[in-house]
Amino acid sequence: MSTQDSTRLYCSICKRRVKGFKNRSGLQQHETLKHSSYNTLPSHIQLVSDSELSHLKKAIVKELQKRLKNHHNAIRKQVFSIHCSEDAFVGIFKNHITRYSPCGSSYLCQFKGEKAFDEIGKILDDKSWGERNYGKG
Ligand SMILES: [Zn+2]
Repeated sequence: MSTQDSTRLYCSICKRRVKGFKNRSGLQQHETLKHSSYNTLPSHIQLVSDSELSHLKKAIVKELQKRLKNHHNAIRKQVFSIHCSEDAFVGIFKNHITRYSPCGSSYLCQFKGEKAFDEIGKILDDKSWGERNYGKG
């Protein structure tokens, strides 16, 4: 517990904690508005072994391929979840995280344009993780 007014939430990114927020959504909104490009990784992240990371990468590729197969005509966003630790996720995507939200404990990575395909292939150590020319996205 902090010594600050415990009924209010404070932004952990702002150095001067002048303003507290009544609830989580207020804080989240503030983060989105003011810190949309904040991507300093939290200090609690631990290094994950390469073998664990490569295991996870394979699992991600497998899941992606399953999705692409089931929806090969659909050019839209696909959502899937995979069980992994925060440390492992950061271990894989650390150089590609464009936004970190301390309030929501969430990370954002974006891959766009022509290089995106190869970029993801490099991250996942699998150049054939998906089908190229898969629509426009
Ligand atoms: Zn702030």
